[in-house]
Amino acid sequence: MITIIGAGPVGSYLAYLLAKKGKAVTIIEDHKKIGNPVQCTGIVTGSIEKSIKLPNNIIANRCNKVIVISKNNRIEANTDEIVLWRNKFDEFMADTATDKGVKILTNHQFIDFNGKNTLKIKNKNNNKIAEIKSDIIIGADGPSSVVAKSAGLNSNVKFYIGMQAKVKLKTDLDKFETYFGSNFPDFFGWVVPESEDTVRLGLGAFKNAKNYFYKFLKKRTNGKKVLCWESGVIPVYNPKQIIQKGNIYLIGDAATQVKATTGGGIVSSLKAAHTLCDCIINKKNYNKEFKRQSRKELLLHLKIRNTLNKFSDKDYDYLLKLMSQEKVKKILKKYDRDTPISLVLNLLLREPKFLLFTKLLFKSTNITT
Ligand SMILES: Cc1cc2nc3c(=O)[nH]c(=O)nc-3n(C[C@H](O)[C@H](O)[C@H](O)COP(=O)(O)OP(=O)(O)OC[C@H]3O[C@@H](n4cnc5c(N)ncnc54)[C@H](O)[C@@H]3O)c2cc1C
Repeated sequence: MITIIGAGPVGSYLAYLLAKKGKAVTIIEDHKKIGNPVQCTGIVTGSIEKSIKLPNNIIANRCNKVIVISKNNRIEANTDEIVLWRNKFDEFMADTATDKGVKILTNHQFIDFNGKNTLKIKNKNNNKIAEIKSDIIIGADGPSSVVAKSAGLNSNVKFYIGMQAKVKLKTDLDKFETYFGSNFPDFFGWVVPESEDTVRLGLGAFKNAKNYFYKFLKKRTNGKKVLCWESGVIPVYNPKQIIQKGNIYLIGDAATQVKATTGGGIVSSLKAAHTLCDCIINKKNYNKEFKRQSRKELLLHLKIRNTLNKFSDKDYDYLLKLMSQEKVKKILKKYDRDTPISLVLNLLLREPKFLLFTKLLFKSTNITT
């Protein structure tokens, strides 16, 4: 038997893949209702549809333009983005798993291990703790993974504080906005329309996120009120994270499988689910296979992020000037952020001035590939 802790999108998708291969899978989910509370913007590139056919009722909006804004510059580029109703997306992924025979126990919390194959699970309906035996245990329990801690796999993970709220604001439905520069230190800000009159407005920061958020809210919306909060933490990809120890595995945010440029973890983790399923079915080493298939891309995102974090407002203005050229915009449309290696190589071929930034890129971290 396989037990997965966490019915987030990644836990449910992995359960579905394993059940399709004939495995008996149970998911333990802390919350009573899958998908709640929402702590995500829910924006993904169209490449998610290579893995899953998304039903219309889980799509809030589609954006075909991104507006990139620095202190003194602003460009518009074509893109292909899907804005999900994140709670409905999680429910859909869980239903897809149960349709294949996966059992999901909601309102049940993983507490700790008791020996190699035994899990202590609290039934929150009656507060009783029971022990479950399992051959394979997978921590898909998000950024504050208890499985990682209990297995001694929690490494030195850094987190962004992702402050996000829904706000009543009329914007173009087909465009989302991203903001860079000294008012968004260490990360960036975003305004993503979910409907005609409501946006998801947020930013990430290592510290003082609340102050930066309120400044941004005031400036962008002229002091509109927060309708509801959707904040959370975003782990920074750690290339040294151990993701398998014997029969215990980590995936998704629990394994820091997040793109450091954007904080997006949905598409990269769904890809990791295919890797982990293959490793379990064919008894391969997941630490090695994940490294072989995904490490280069996630590491490139990390290096780009570390480089951007050294940018001044002037550097961002110059970057946007380069990006405003039609030849560059075409590349940005063709290669999305889920294929960063092709994206960077093609940008360099079409506009050698980007080489200036790549010098910084390889100085920005001492992590070697
Ligand atoms: C503000 C913000 C905005 C974001 N925007 C985007 C975006 O636009 N696009 C994108 O791709 N990514 C985005 N992300 C990141 C994205 O939300 C995560 O990468 C994604 O949710 C990871 O999925 P997961 O299944 O690994 O973890 P989660 O979605 O966190 O799911 C983990 C599940 O495990 C359960 N759980 C936790 N502990 C236990 C326990 N002890 N026992 C049982 N169950 C447990 C939780 O209840 C939860 O259901 C954003 C994150 C934040 C904070």
